[in-house]
Amino acid sequence: MIGFDNSWVRDLPGSFLRLAPDAAPAPVLVAWNDSLAADLGLDPAVKTHAAQWFSGAALPPGAEPIALAYAGHQFGGFSPQLGDGRAHLLGEFRDGQGRRWDIQLKGSGRTPFSRGGDGKAAVGPMLREYLISEAMAAMGIPTTRALAVVATGETIWRDAGPLPGAVLARVAASHIRVGSFQFFAARGETDKLAALLDYTIARHYPHLAPGDGIGLFDAVTRAQARLIAQWMGVGFVHGVMNTDNMALSGETIDYGPCAFMEGYALGTVFSSIDRQGRYAYGNQPLILGWNLARLAECLLPFFDTDEARAVEIANERLGAIAGIYRTEYLAVMAAKLGLAAPDPGLTDVLLALLPGQDWTGFFRALSEERRLPPGFEDWQARWRAQAPNLAAMRPVNPVVIPRNHLVEAALTSASAGDLAPFQTLLAEVQRPFAPAEGREGFALPAPEGFGDYVTFCGT
Ligand code: AMP
Ligand code: MG
Repeated sequence: MIGFDNSWVRDLPGSFLRLAPDAAPAPVLVAWNDSLAADLGLDPAVKTHAAQWFSGAALPPGAEPIALAYAGHQFGGFSPQLGDGRAHLLGEFRDGQGRRWDIQLKGSGRTPFSRGGDGKAAVGPMLREYLISEAMAAMGIPTTRALAVVATGETIWRDAGPLPGAVLARVAASHIRVGSFQFFAARGETDKLAALLDYTIARHYPHLAPGDGIGLFDAVTRAQARLIAQWMGVGFVHGVMNTDNMALSGETIDYGPCAFMEGYALGTVFSSIDRQGRYAYGNQPLILGWNLARLAECLLPFFDTDEARAVEIANERLGAIAGIYRTEYLAVMAAKLGLAAPDPGLTDVLLALLPGQDWTGFFRALSEERRLPPGFEDWQARWRAQAPNLAAMRPVNPVVIPRNHLVEAALTSASAGDLAPFQTLLAEVQRPFAPAEGREGFALPAPEGFGDYVTFCGT
């Protein structure tokens, strides 16, 4: 019924373990993404099996569940073996347009990669990934998508106490991470690295010839630079830009302690464990370069057979990343400002004035010719002189993003069994650019007294 075609298990032996997800004792479907299912052309009958198939209670025909091996730098420190510690890739299916998609369960039980973890996930964090990834998709930002969340009927234990367990079924262009390359590179398995390189090229960058490490590196650089520029444009803070959370497809992946910035501040951090601000809002472009440098290290043997020459090529590439990112960022900002061409001077002056202003609200106010806060008069005159296209700004500057206080309230209710606030908020973030009329409460920043927002990992 899903029509699986599992190329990973065929093509990349030695990069995964076969094992079944845990069987959920009492699965109940709590969220189902009808529009994604329709986009992908999934058989409508899949929904009738969703609680079973997307919780581990039963396997859909054709699924070959595996846990993927990968390595990664976590907050700068290298772990040669991370891997799917609470996820099972059921397999891949081809949609009506011939695109190949991974379907992965998250929170589906322990694997040999679990280390100390229980392999499980709670309803709140899985609905959080659902909500935020849907908001990103609706804003046109490349991302994995959530197909379903199934409550398992299990109780899981976290610092906060007992929580209802859940499994998320997500759809991704692939789960190839920088850490997937690091896994083989760290083990010196160059033949497997070559197979992964060719697999990645065939799956994501088929215009490249097999073995073209430089081509792949350049393509991933462009895709990731564009992605991070888009994050910056909407004030998204991923929170854990470890190399295992960076996808070669250029999709946003692994929503954990992520959140959206309200008042503009480069130092914005939400994650409780990011004490140094390594993954702060304003550091994301630097981490882009850092992570790409780790990818380049893995690809050196495919840059040139001469090692010194390979390093030279890598250094050229790494030196160019900041400029490539800057171009993408200025393009994002030009669109936000309704300008026909990027204007670095105008953008930089604005950014110098913006600290403390609600990022999302400011740009939308600009696009609707609403009154700006005091202090922006000179800048605004300079901007107006460029004849900005206001109509073009509105489909770029969201009215509604997942505001932290609303996300928190919706997830708290959902964990207590009331899904109505989650469904309402989901519907609003799925039409981010529609006018605020009739939904003003979803467009406002957190009320005074909500305080600093803190998010948690390992949930
Ligand atoms: P993340 O930061 O969520 O991307 O996860 C980093 C690593 O920790 C991955 O290898 C995950 O599979 C693993 N992990 C996270 N939470 C758990 C858990 N509850 N049980 C087992 N492994 C986990
Ligand atoms: Mg991860």
